[in-house]
Amino acid sequence: MYALNYQRAKSLDEAVKLLGAEPEAKLMAGGQTLIPTLKARLAQPSHLIDLARVAELKGIEVKDGVLIIGAMSKHYEVMTSAVVQKAIPGLANMASLIGDLQVRNMGTMGGSIANNDPAADYPAGVLAHNVTIVTNKREIKADDYFQGMFATALEEGEIIIKLLWPLPKKSAYSKFEHPASGYAMAGTCIAQLADGSVRVGVTGAGSSGAFRWTEAEEALAKSFSLKALEGLKVDPETCLGDLHAPPEYRAHLVGVMAKRALEKML
Ligand SMILES: Cc1cc2nc3c(=O)[nH]c(=O)nc-3n(C[C@H](O)[C@H](O)[C@H](O)COP(=O)(O)OP(=O)(O)OC[C@H]3O[C@@H](n4cnc5c(N)ncnc54)[C@H](O)[C@@H]3O)c2cc1C
Repeated sequence: MYALNYQRAKSLDEAVKLLGAEPEAKLMAGGQTLIPTLKARLAQPSHLIDLARVAELKGIEVKDGVLIIGAMSKHYEVMTSAVVQKAIPGLANMASLIGDLQVRNMGTMGGSIANNDPAADYPAGVLAHNVTIVTNKREIKADDYFQGMFATALEEGEIIIKLLWPLPKKSAYSKFEHPASGYAMAGTCIAQLADGSVRVGVTGAGSSGAFRWTEAEEALAKSFSLKALEGLKVDPETCLGDLHAPPEYRAHLVGVMAKRALEKML
């Protein structure tokens, strides 16, 4: 790890100022991705700005049909929150499937979404639920946010404050996890939104990160049944192949996970 300066922001304003003052500064949430990256000397920020004490990034509440989750909400909080369990039980379940106990107690929703690991769980949920990401500069719709592996619409100096999850009629997530890391080899989230539309978000499988499986959305809009998913398959050409699994296998898994998620909803 290279030497760096550590700064603890006490408010959102202070975090914005600190971030703007140093071109090589980096935000830190729970450090679950950042610290290993620094340890491996894959990044060399001049300053680390710790967001742990920024009150504006915390809190979970439901208001006007929307579940509002502060960016610094840890996976464990999302998983155990009575508010989340009542509002979007599928999301509480998704959080419970992330990593292990330590990761869930340190990792945050904002950090996960900012990092946009192609195998992270929340991106599938964010796409399926048509979430809005609120930053210190603007609001970004889920469909505009994810821009490829580890790439997002976030610009320099932009801090995620909270995520707005419209309450669905129902939703569910299923993932096939890598036995060592717990990350998704493929994970599929299905949400039936308040207006009756269906969205399907997929993580772990795409060669360009999380994506919406529009063929499944169209089929489920016509008939919200397991039968609608029969014979449907993601194009393996669009899937990731690596030492853990070839693209064809991941493409197959997406369909299996979709059926399992749908079974939970039915
Ligand atoms: C062993 C292990 C297993 C894991 N398994 C899973 C898994 O199964 N599923 C899964 O989804 N994830 C998994 N993770 C990832 C984990 O869930 C964390 O969410 C993720 O690593 C991000 O960590 P963090 O929230 O601590 O953010 P950090 O590591 O602190 O930050 C990550 C990045 O986000 C930026 N950032 C943080 N907060 C903000 C913000 N508010 N605004 C803008 N940018 C911000 C930081 O600058 C940094 O670039 C795993 C991690 C580990 C170490």
